[in-house]
Amino acid sequence: MKDMNASAASALCPICGEGHVTEGMVMTEHAYKGTTTSLPLRFTTCDTCGSESAGLEESRANKRAAMAFRKSVDGLLTGAEICALRERFKLTQTQAANLFGGGPVAFSKYENDDVAQSEAMDNLLRLVRRSDAAFWVLVEEKGMQAEFSKAKEIVSTSTSSKTFALADYRNGSPRGPNKTTLRPYRRDTEKWK
Ligand SMILES: [Zn+2]
Repeated sequence: MKDMNASAASALCPICGEGHVTEGMVMTEHAYKGTTTSLPLRFTTCDTCGSESAGLEESRANKRAAMAFRKSVDGLLTGAEICALRERFKLTQTQAANLFGGGPVAFSKYENDDVAQSEAMDNLLRLVRRSDAAFWVLVEEKGMQAEFSKAKEIVSTSTSSKTFALADYRNGSPRGPNKTTLRPYRRDTEKWK
């Protein structure tokens, strides 16, 4: 941590090229569609010329904070919520884009609050968030069953084991409902008595 501070402090000022910059942050008021909030604004200050500027990293963080605020005002899922949904279904960002649409880097941008998803995309994500069945229907619609065959195997295994247990009962096996006592097993003939 000390090294990181040292390297941040030793960064040269992009304005005068002589001084060194230090990171700072102020809370600034943002208004969007009649809603006002306070958001952190990151910047760097030069110890020589006194210039305040925002580099690539600071600008990105500032834009993301503003976008996250606009999403919340518009009632859209936040980047963190979209990320949680994707991880719940164990999807990569590429798989999510193939399944839901939006283009190859869409989910990286949604999750980082670089862009806001459309209302239609938001509705689709909310539908899948509420219903696992909707997720599987979509997988089928997009012909992506093969990619999720492992997950399906788990589902079918548990189903068939239930079916097997039920069949056991119906065939009147020793532990079935028609036989309340266990029959002894003869070791010499290897048959039930
Ligand atoms: Zn400077």
